[in-house]
Amino acid sequence: MTLKVGVIGTGMIGRDHIRRLTEVVSGAEVVAVNDANEVSAKEVASGLPNATVHATGEDLIADDRVDAVIVCSWGPTHEQYVLASIAAGKPVFCEKPLATTTEACRNIIDAEVASGKRLVQVGFMRRYDAPYRALKRAIDSGAVGAPLIYYSGHRNPSVPEHYTKDMAIVDTAVHDFDVTRWLLGEELTTIRVQAAKPNSHGGELQDPLLMTLETERGVLVQVETSVNIRYGYDIRGEVVGEDGTAALADTGQVVLRTSNSVGVRVPEDWRERFIAAYDVEFQEWINEVVAGTGLTGPSSWDGYAAQVVCDAGVKALYSGERVQIELATKPGLYS
Ligand code: NAP
Repeated sequence: MTLKVGVIGTGMIGRDHIRRLTEVVSGAEVVAVNDANEVSAKEVASGLPNATVHATGEDLIADDRVDAVIVCSWGPTHEQYVLASIAAGKPVFCEKPLATTTEACRNIIDAEVASGKRLVQVGFMRRYDAPYRALKRAIDSGAVGAPLIYYSGHRNPSVPEHYTKDMAIVDTAVHDFDVTRWLLGEELTTIRVQAAKPNSHGGELQDPLLMTLETERGVLVQVETSVNIRYGYDIRGEVVGEDGTAALADTGQVVLRTSNSVGVRVPEDWRERFIAAYDVEFQEWINEVVAGTGLTGPSSWDGYAAQVVCDAGVKALYSGERVQIELATKPGLYS
């Protein structure tokens, strides 16, 4: 069976996912698109053999030809489209964030729990990255003993003009929060945010930031965001356990020795670093939706938990205090 999908939002990531669904992964066809910018939606549809342009996201979700929905529009619009997809009983892949407020995330969880089954997956694609999966296997196998400390480094060469102070947390570190919860298999309980001496490439921006978090079992987590570090897009992760350490490696690369130096390439941006992870993410989502065996990827609960950590992180950024991260009771649907 070919999964017929509708894509809401034909901006940068929407276009990339449509390319992926059309040219890279198997088992899906894009049959409908929508964007607030109709010219953009029409342009994308003109490159597809069989896609209808819908005036609204709600029209796309209601289209009988659409089996499943992919939401790639601007973050504040996610809640309405995810809720409409749940109401229509259609699986929905929502790019991160699940929603931009904790209350909106709760609304989604309530609607999904009431529907009785998991319909929502959130685009936390690091969980599909081969090095991260190897790191998780190393932790789960007990090879390094019980985790005590986890370090997560998130470095960008530069950020766009519209990047604000809060975005270091809600847009950048949100991926580190999610992958930390997934790697360690437990929730985060407190967060403190400190700004280092500012990087002069970042103008007025408070950058880099160093965040210290604790988990339920007392693992200490450090997240570094350095978003003007020029040399490249560099993602670090290292767990320190009772018996050893395990770290992400620059895998699958040629080590070049030349001109009295030795080195491996540092990716230019997140597209280069995570391109294979996005492919795996969508192939697994398509397979699971078609098989009807239930979704195993990042859930509404994961989207909600990441949002609660972000809210606490923003509070900690402005107050300089250690802020408690308080989650509601986890519904059984997400156990
Ligand atoms: P983008 O290039 O600005 O594209 C968003 C598109 O959505 C724009 O074409 C925008 O139209 C459209 N839009 C705005 N409001 C809409 C509405 N109510 N209904 C339908 N379409 C609407 O942004 P992007 O970089 O693709 O990001 C989109 C989402 O993906 C964001 O939530 C972002 O955080 C997420 N993302 C995730 C990753 C990841 O690593 N997982 C990476 C990149 C992006 P206008 O331009 O006319 O407003």
